[in-house]
This record gives sequence, C-alpha cells and structure tokens, in this order.
Amino acid sequence: MLILMKSEATKEDILRVCQKIETMGYRAHEIPGAQRTAIGITGNQGKIDPETFATMSGVEQAIPVTKPYKLAGRDARRENSEVSVGGEIVGGRELAIIAGPCSVESWDQLITTARAVKDAGAKFLRGGAFKPRTSPYTFQGMKEEGLVLLREARSETGLKIVTEVKDVLTLSAVSQVADVIQVGARNMSNFSLLEAVGELRTPVLLKRGISATIEELLMAAEYILAKGNLNVILCERGIRTFEPATRNTLDLSAVPVVKKLSHLPIIVDPSHGIGMWEGVTAMSLAAVAAGADGIMVEVHPNPPEALSDGYQSLKPERFKDLVEKVRRVAEVVDRSVGAEVA
Ligand code: PEP
Ligand code: MN
Repeated sequence: MLILMKSEATKEDILRVCQKIETMGYRAHEIPGAQRTAIGITGNQGKIDPETFATMSGVEQAIPVTKPYKLAGRDARRENSEVSVGGEIVGGRELAIIAGPCSVESWDQLITTARAVKDAGAKFLRGGAFKPRTSPYTFQGMKEEGLVLLREARSETGLKIVTEVKDVLTLSAVSQVADVIQVGARNMSNFSLLEAVGELRTPVLLKRGISATIEELLMAAEYILAKGNLNVILCERGIRTFEPATRNTLDLSAVPVVKKLSHLPIIVDPSHGIGMWEGVTAMSLAAVAAGADGIMVEVHPNPPEALSDGYQSLKPERFKDLVEKVRRVAEVVDRSVGAEVA
C-alpha cells in the first residue's frame, strides 16, 4: 500500500503516518516528490484497510499497489528521480557520461584513460578492481590495489568513481572509494548483496542480469530501496538471446519501458551490450535517442593489450568523437552533455 500525502501536508503529518505504520509492525518508506510525499508500506503479509489512514491529517489517499514493486514504481513517485553523486546529478537534463577501462590494470593505464575521458567530457571514471570473470583463469582484477589507484585518479582529476562490488565481503573496502557502487549483471539476483548496498546511502548502479526481465530488474532495485537507499541508477547492458553475432542483445526498448514503469534513472552500457568496439558509438547514440539518462563506455589507451574486454573498448580519440556525436543527438531529445572541457 502507498499513502499519498497532500501537497500541503506538514512534516508532522508525515511523521504521524510513519509512526502509525511502524506501530502496526510494518515498515514505512518516505518517498519525497516535487508535488507531494508518498509513504510506502512494506512488511505486511495481508491487505491493509485503506480506511486506517483515510482520516489522518495530511493524507490525500491510500492506494493498494498492484505491481510487485512498490517503491520503484511510478505510483510511489510521479516525477523522475534524480540521484546526486557528490553534486553530479544523474537523471536530470544533463546526461551522465561514464567512461574508463573495464579493469584497472596499472597507474599509467588508469590515469591516461581518466585524463582522456575527462578531456572528452566524461564526469565519471569507471574501472573494475574486483572483476567477476566467467573463467577463474583470467585476470580477476587488481583488487585492493586497484581501489587505491581509483582513489588516486579521483584526487588527480576530480572525476567521480564508479566501481564494481563483487560480494558482501569486499563491500566495505569498495564503498570507501566508490562514489557509485556498481552491482554487476551477474550479481543482480544476489539478494544479500542488494540488501547490503541498500543499507548504505552511496549511489548504486544496478545492472540488468544477463537473462533478467525488466520486472526482475525493478524487483532487484526494490531490494535496495526497501532497505532505505533511494539512490539507485538502473543500467541496461544487453541480455542473452539466440543471436550469437553480438556479445549480448542490447535491449534499448527497456529504456522507454522502465521510464513508464519507474521513476528511477536508467543508463545504457553499449560496450557490454554489443561487445565490439565498432558498434559502440552507434549504440550510444541510439541509447540517448531512446531516452537514456546516460551511457557507460569502456575506454582503453591500448585495447589490444587490455586484460579484459579489449575488443569492445574504444581508444580515447574514438571516445572523444563519440561524445561529440552524443552531444548532437542529446540536443534533439532536450538533453545536454555538460560544459565542454577545454
Ligand atoms: C563491467 O561493467 O565491466 C561488467 C562486468 O559488466 P556486466 O556486469 O554488465 O557484465
Ligand atoms: Mn567489461
């Protein structure tokens, strides 16, 4: 159930409703909106009588939620959510441009890439320190050492750091460095990890599982929101289909569908989506045209030598060209790419 408060409801009205929910043994989730606040109720097994709240001061309406996700849905919040990453807004007019290597490999590799992507217009540096690899015999990431390099790269460039958490064990180390904690496709259904990042307030980039439906993605987000972390950014990164010509099938239709169903921002990862560098620019432009709130692109100074995902990584000069094209498409859909960096 959702309690929709009147626009003129006071803080005390909201508090009284939350207290009432808690005394009933349930959990109250305040979801502020531009016009009004909604309060989600979780923890109830059966139905709750809407009359319980109807006469309370400041309450507009109590509505049953028909969708399995309560807090991620549009009913809870009509306006798009904006997630602030240390002042950089994801989900506003400006597109989030996230770029960097698949894996952090060395200081030289990281800082060269970081400077190049910043120069091209990125505000966020991506780079995995803990890598979930299909094969146990391939490079598993620089781990803690990689986190140290990411921290250093942030202080040198001012870029916000997006890095992946592989498990609950290393969450504490990752969260000390990450401005955005990435939950990878393979972990979208790791419910203990979702709950653990839900306990934090650090923004979370939640990638769609390799064979997850859009509803399953929203339910995974719900796990994080239900623990109180409302700073969730979704990411479409391609799903597995019968088509072997591309690494995945980038489901760009997920963008307008998610926009209809949810208030959460959604970005697109064209690199893992198509899995070959030649297609990354086209997929980025298509993602922006489809209404994505940003893109996350793999960039490497020397792709053939990359320790992971080199075949889908762009050279810095190609990434610069991509951003310039994205800037032009962004204009058509009333978005922007932010100030050009001299
Ligand atoms: C990545 O971003 O490098 C990554 C491993 O992505 P995904 O979880 O989407 O496979
Ligand atoms: Mn990768």
